[in-house]
Amino acid sequence: METRWLHTTSEDFKKLREESERVCVIPMGCLEKHSVYLPLGTDVIIANNMAYDASQLETVCVFPDFAFGDVPCGDHAARPDGTIALDVRIQMLLLENLCGEISANGFNKILVVNGHGGNLPWLQTFARNLGCKPHKYVFAYVDVPDTVPHQMAEFLLEKGSGSIPELTAEDEELIIKYYKADMQLGHACMQEAAYTMEYAPESVHLDRLGREDGSPRDLPELQKLLDLKVRLSMGGWDHLYPDWYAGDDPYGLNERIARAATRIATEKLAEVYKAFKEDKFLLGRAKENYKDKTWFE
Ligand SMILES: [Zn+2]
Repeated sequence: METRWLHTTSEDFKKLREESERVCVIPMGCLEKHSVYLPLGTDVIIANNMAYDASQLETVCVFPDFAFGDVPCGDHAARPDGTIALDVRIQMLLLENLCGEISANGFNKILVVNGHGGNLPWLQTFARNLGCKPHKYVFAYVDVPDTVPHQMAEFLLEKGSGSIPELTAEDEELIIKYYKADMQLGHACMQEAAYTMEYAPESVHLDRLGREDGSPRDLPELQKLLDLKVRLSMGGWDHLYPDWYAGDDPYGLNERIARAATRIATEKLAEVYKAFKEDKFLLGRAKENYKDKTWFE
């Protein structure tokens, strides 16, 4: 059924709410550089498409994208073209306001599907802070599921060749090779490239691999502080990875691997939706904490 809030008429909205069992998901990302070979909107493109595709497996209402994640610019030598860095306080207020509006439309569970690691610190603060004030819904957030190469390689090694039907023998070999080499992932990495290749293949430019370095810079002074457990903004990430690229180059990535990775991740996300829908514990706690009990019936 049509699960997107944006594509639903006011008349059909009640049906969407009922079929969703009053669960609404918000795809979240950010607009920032993803090395030179992936688009600025990588995280939004992934969260949006995966949140929607999973809603076709397990019905939930899909809210419009929360596109403006936490992107720090000031500490970088130069702001990369196309980056949008809103004050995180505005993002927290905006999210709270949106959740209130979603709740006012009859939803009592809200799940953020997050595609941007930089959102996790403020989402944690947001969720904790929300617990200190009355609100009529359960709030939770989840990352876009991890798949490639490590989880897929472990699956292949356990279940054997042919267990991921989209892949050829060469594809399996490549994934297991990267797994055994402990491929580094982080930002604009193989996984992000695979998902983006599935959803927006024209925006992925593998021919530009090799122009930037996704390995951490050798910064002994910074490392000394980190070794002493001094906590830095972003864990020093912006100094270690000044190209906004963290990970080993995903040479050999192709559309079959992208298709498989995306399918598996979508199925995992649908499982998350199902568990969140079925959960009675959090809803019960929310009901206890809110005086208008009928709202949660
Ligand atoms: Zn990203």
